[in-house]
Formats: sequence, C-alpha cells, structure tokens
Amino acid sequence: MPVNEKFDVIIIGAGPSGAIAASILVQKGWKVLVIEREQFPRFSIGESLLPQCMAFIEEADMLDVVQSQAEALGFQYKNGAAFYRNGEHSNFDFTKKFSDGAGTTFQVKRANFDKVLADRADEIGADIRYKHTVNAVDFKDDSAVVSVTNEQESLQFEAKFILDASGYGRVLPRLLSLELPSTLSDRRAVFCHFEDGIIDEHYDRDKILITVHPEKNDIWYWLIPFSDGTVSFGVVGDVKYFDSTQTDEAVFDSFLAQEPYLAELLKQAKKITPVRSLQGYSSDVTKLYGDRFALLGNAGEFLDPVFSSGVTIAMYSSSLAANLLDKQLSGDDVSWQTDYADNLKAGVEVFKHFVMSWYDTELQNVIFFQKDDNDVKSMICSILAGYAWDKENPYVSKTERRLNALVDICRQGNDG
Ligand SMILES: Cc1cc2nc3c(=O)[nH]c(=O)nc-3n(C[C@H](O)[C@H](O)[C@H](O)COP(=O)(O)OP(=O)(O)OC[C@H]3O[C@@H](n4cnc5c(N)ncnc54)[C@H](O)[C@@H]3O)c2cc1C
Repeated sequence: MPVNEKFDVIIIGAGPSGAIAASILVQKGWKVLVIEREQFPRFSIGESLLPQCMAFIEEADMLDVVQSQAEALGFQYKNGAAFYRNGEHSNFDFTKKFSDGAGTTFQVKRANFDKVLADRADEIGADIRYKHTVNAVDFKDDSAVVSVTNEQESLQFEAKFILDASGYGRVLPRLLSLELPSTLSDRRAVFCHFEDGIIDEHYDRDKILITVHPEKNDIWYWLIPFSDGTVSFGVVGDVKYFDSTQTDEAVFDSFLAQEPYLAELLKQAKKITPVRSLQGYSSDVTKLYGDRFALLGNAGEFLDPVFSSGVTIAMYSSSLAANLLDKQLSGDDVSWQTDYADNLKAGVEVFKHFVMSWYDTELQNVIFFQKDDNDVKSMICSILAGYAWDKENPYVSKTERRLNALVDICRQGNDG
C-alpha cells in the first residue's frame, strides 16, 4: 500500500502529552501529524493538575488560552492539597514550596482541558486527525510507516520519528511487546462528577481534598472541585476491597457512606455523570525509547493517582522528548538514555517512593504530623506540587533516606 503523506514526526494521541509535544515541535519548524482515535471533547480521568505543569503549558504557548478560558470552562484555581483522616486535617499550600516555579494551577474537566490544548496545537500548526486509529507501525532504516484506519478507509503515513502519546491505549508498548507489569499493587478507582451543593464554610475549594478511609488506611478518596459548583469524587483501593458482585454505583455509594466527614460534606450532592471505574491502570515498560520512537506520558509508565502526578509526568516527558527530538532532527548527537529515560525516571522514582510510602501509611503519618510551616514541610510541599526533578531539594536527591528519617521523627513525635 502506498504511503499517503510524509511528516517529520507522527504523534499517536492528542491528550496532554501529545498536544504539548506537538506544539513544541511545530514551533521549532517541524511538520507534525497527530493521530487521535476519538473526537474531542472526550471524557478522560486525571483532573487535578500540579503547579509544575504550568511551565510546560507555557513552553507550548498554551498558557494564555488556558487562563483566558478557565472561567468559562469551569477550571478551578488550585493552590494546594488538603488531607483528612479521622478528624485530623493537614493542609499543604503550594505557594510555600521549596522549589522555584509556579505555586498554583487548575483543576480541570479533562474533556474541556484536553480540547483547549489540542485546539491550540492545531492553531499553532499541528495537523490533528481525529477519529483516526493507529493499528500498526513498521520501523524501517530511516523512517517509520504508520498504518491508520478511520471510518472510511485505511491510510499509511510516514515520518522520521514516532512519539507514542496514546496513554492507556499503549500502542507501541503493545505492538513492540514492551509492556512490563507495574511493581505497584493492582488497585481500582470508582468515580463520578457531582453537582456538589457543598455549604460547609470551612471547605477550601482551592485545594484537592484527599481523605483516608476511617478504618482501612490504604483506601482513600479524592474530592476535586471545579469552579462551576461541581466536583469530581472518587475512591481508590486494592481490588480486594471492591465487591465484584455489586455495580460500580452501589460500591461507590457504599464507600461514600462509610466516611462520615465526606458523607456530611456531600449530603446534598447529585450525580451528574455515570459512575465509572478503572482497574489495573498502573503500568511500566521495558524501555522508553528506541531508534525511531519514544514513549510519552502514560504510554510509558503510570504510577498511581494519589498525588495527581500523571499529567505532570506526561507533560514533563513531552517537553524533554520534543526538545531532544528537535536536536536529533537538526543533526545533533543526542543521548535518549541520559537526556530522556534517565532524566524522566529520576522524577518518576521520587513520586514512586511517595506513592509506596502513602500506601504503607508511613507518608500519611508524615503528612498529618506536618502541622506548621517549616523547611521540611516546604520541601515535601515541592514534591506534592510536582517539582520532583529539583535536585536542590534533599527529598528529591535523597528521597528514600530523607523520607525514612522523617518517618522515624514522626513516629517518635507521635509516641512522645
Ligand atoms: C483513577 C485515576 C485518577 C487520576 N487522577 C489524576 C489527577 O488527578 N491528576 C493527574 O495529573 N493525573 C491523574 N491521573 C493520570 C492521568 O489520567 C494520566 O496520567 C494522563 O491522562 C496521561 O496523559 P496522556 O496524554 O499520556 O494520555 P491520555 O490523556 O490518556 O491521552 C491519550 C490519547 O491517545 C488516544 N489513543 C489511544 N490509542 C490510540 C490509537 N490506537 N490511535 C490513536 N489515538 C489513540 C486516546 O484516545 C487519548 O485521547 C489519574 C489516573 C487514574 C487512573
């Protein structure tokens, strides 16, 4: 079958990682095709952004459009994370973080947000084809040919390099057998959107609220407010806690009723979307790049939703890969291992320590111990704000050692 069109770069998927990479590459003068299976707007989970994201949104020349559309699209200003466990509250104000960079961001309905980013990438010059699905990729010596179908026909597109930003579609990991099981446990999330009706004057809409289940502290709830009087609410836990004989809605209602503070907060809430569930979302790969491809965002590794790191990692990977690819296409020598895989992994590992320590509940004790503002709190706060690559932060450069020491201090403090 003849090749229909040729490009410098083909990106699979127009989610945050695809749109950001496309925009950066187009601005550097490359001819970019983005192939997206769905028609936007489309639902996606992952609604609470971290301030570190804002740098990549700006780099992709999307900051003005995100800010100017925020109010109309219900994007909620976000300045931190609030935690609740059995009567205890702990707040982290991202503007008091250790690292340089933005201290605020947004919580977004992803259907709207992803469309804003993709429309801007299109406006800047990326060629986005919606309702086109990538089915196969044939790697040759100096190019790659991508086989695509839409409702009418089969097509072939050629490019010098492929960026896989297909998220949970994980196109290249599947086609090239790069999939690796995650070392994290198999967990399930059940969630929906509410018209929230929250009247509690102490409830802070500027923060995501993470609540620990009153009895099983490896189960937690998210409450992500939007600015239009709606919230995203979900519960996450090991699959063993979810009764597979019940519907998602029954499981969801039961978990909400089990947490008295949330049940009270949401007593007037009305569901405005179906209850959905996801399971087995944590994933890994054997390698993040090859001769003519790199994996971005969730198509590479996905950890866990608890610290809202997914979109930040996705955008970080896009910025790294797009800038490196620009150099490679310009004829420079580049090291994908050092400058992409090792660099990206460094921050992912920091988040991974935090995720594992959250579920073994040690980090929860740290979080609820940190009542007052101090240097340690600002360093932890930096990581919660997404600055997991800032090596000036001792909790980034020596995560495990520093966290263990902090856990001991909190344990002694709680005992004493
Ligand atoms: C329960 C849960 C809660 C989460 N909460 C948060 C949160 O609060 N904050 C946060 O930052 N992250 C969160 N995440 C993570 C977040 O969802 C992802 O990290 C993020 O969406 C990754 O972006 P992406 O661009 O890599 O992929 P996606 O956003 O998934 O985009 C991939 C795109 O590729 C397209 N595609 C797939 N296959 C093909 C194909 N064959 N051909 C063409 N196109 C294709 C898809 O249609 C999709 O549009 C959460 C995840 C889960 C599971």
